[in-house]
Amino acid sequence: MKTIYFDKDIPRVLATKGAARFKATRGLLFTGINAVKYAKDIPDPPLPADNWVRVKNIACGLCGTDVSFFKATTGTNSALEPIPASKKTFLGHENVGVVVEAGPAVTQVQVGDRVGIRAYMAGCDNKDLPRCPNCAAGNYSICTNYGAKPRFDLEWTGAGWSDSFIAPQQQLYKILPELTLEQAVMIEPASVAVHAVLMAPPKAGEKVLVMGCGVIGLAIIQALKVIQPECEVWAMSRTRDKLDFAMRLGADHVLSGDALEAASNACGGSPVYKGMSKKNRFFFGGFDRAFDCIGGGWANTMGVRLLRARGTFVKVGHHMNAVKYDETPVWWQELTVIGIDSHGMEEWEGRRLYTFDLVQEWIRDGKYTVDGFVSHTFKLDDYKEAFRLALRNPPGVFKIVLDCASDT
Ligand SMILES: [Zn+2]
Ligand SMILES: [Zn+2]
Repeated sequence: MKTIYFDKDIPRVLATKGAARFKATRGLLFTGINAVKYAKDIPDPPLPADNWVRVKNIACGLCGTDVSFFKATTGTNSALEPIPASKKTFLGHENVGVVVEAGPAVTQVQVGDRVGIRAYMAGCDNKDLPRCPNCAAGNYSICTNYGAKPRFDLEWTGAGWSDSFIAPQQQLYKILPELTLEQAVMIEPASVAVHAVLMAPPKAGEKVLVMGCGVIGLAIIQALKVIQPECEVWAMSRTRDKLDFAMRLGADHVLSGDALEAASNACGGSPVYKGMSKKNRFFFGGFDRAFDCIGGGWANTMGVRLLRARGTFVKVGHHMNAVKYDETPVWWQELTVIGIDSHGMEEWEGRRLYTFDLVQEWIRDGKYTVDGFVSHTFKLDDYKEAFRLALRNPPGVFKIVLDCASDT
């Protein structure tokens, strides 16, 4: 087995954090000091129980979560940090693989099935534990066993950024045979977007702002139009190529220039008032709803100022640090704040199903498109080059994918 993992070795993690902090030292991230390591020639681990399977990977996307590992960004002031994690966290959760071995008690998948990971880091299903109430309801992202020890203490399992990995069957989902590889590799990020919009769906006629047009922001723009075609979507991004893509996916307008002035114009709001410090500004009557796909102090402070009274601020993870921001609009304007982590179970048109299955159906039926998202592919061995491109993020980079099946 070949696998890429985050090594929770404290000196190494601190060195990685230090290197990531300054532009001048960022090159060190690509050297042996990084806590993200690549192990080759690991003997394939045996299946530890009858309900486990072995999956041979074909491809796996690179996500913000992987970049967070590469830069060791989780803040020592964030709520995530105290939760015990295993010594190794295997990277990659946007995978497409094929079941190559199944234990005798496996019933949900078969050898030859195309599968991906559903419950990644959190989740009783990932740890092969009896399900907690949230996991039993299909909402594994809010699993209450996040800090619990897994059923087996295994040194090597692998995950999406591996040539193969082992997993309990309930951790996986089956990929519809009609989907192409390029479509299948986009199921996970599209599921994040669909879950975010179904957790905070706009009403007809609402003006909705999407802050940040990376892959998730773009996927949210499209999900908004599928779930509520009668809303008006405004896209906000610093880069032209992302805004062009946003318009192709259904955004109605681009919020350009000064954000407060532009938002007031867009929504017919009040004049923008200035404080003693000319930088401190506020207006009344902004957007009904904003999806924050940027994260951090600036986006929070700005996002809640771009909303009307009783508007809704939707925070889409994963910003891994505690941040400072001006919360006064939250109470003063009686805003609602909704947090989103990945995906789970949805209710849609009278059915209850996993976000993954809803999204797969939409892609298969042409209701939702993921065409044009995969912009770059690297071999698994060249994962550092994939990170180099992700960190530089020049125009034209959308979803980066690792090819896990080719040998060289
Ligand atoms: Zn992801
Ligand atoms: Zn659970």
